[in-house]
Amino acid sequence: MALTRAQKRAKLAEAAEEAIERLLDWDEENPRPNLTQIEDIVLALRQRLGREFASVVMEGQEAQQPAQAPLCPRCGEVMRNKGRKGKALESRLGGVQMERGYYYCPHCESGVFPPGPTT
Ligand SMILES: [Zn+2]
Repeated sequence: MALTRAQKRAKLAEAAEEAIERLLDWDEENPRPNLTQIEDIVLALRQRLGREFASVVMEGQEAQQPAQAPLCPRCGEVMRNKGRKGKALESRLGGVQMERGYYYCPHCESGVFPPGPTT
């Protein structure tokens, strides 16, 4: 799905607002936290927010894919569009789950989620 800058901004702002709300809720529930507890909650929120930010950017990136099927990165054959598939990505931000267009090569049977690397 193609997202405009305004739509991306809305999604990013929503994720940030949610993180802020969670932190404020936690702050009210924990009136005298020590530094380790503060670190734990902030790191957890940062991780979650980072994944959501990455998801928004990756969704937007997919909208820039060409309409034509890509060529197989292994053998150069034209790949077949297999529709949208869920993909779990491991990133430095932790696990990110997303739906992407998936292409399959009938020649060498490799699959790819453009513009990402072969999986
Ligand atoms: Zn191939």
